[in-house]
Amino acid sequence: MQDISCPICSADLPLDGDEKDGQTVYCTYCSTPLTVLIQSPDMPITLVEDT
Ligand SMILES: [Zn+2]
Repeated sequence: MQDISCPICSADLPLDGDEKDGQTVYCTYCSTPLTVLIQSPDMPITLVEDT
């Protein structure tokens, strides 16, 4: 499990750690849909705004 910051509102989002690349998650604070980007298992998860 790792804490990721929402790119929109900077809130800390506790993720389960089993998110998949390309999965859409919703910020619990601003409800923005965010796409999970996992470039490599060794890299931290990145969240980008789902456009
Ligand atoms: Zn947010």
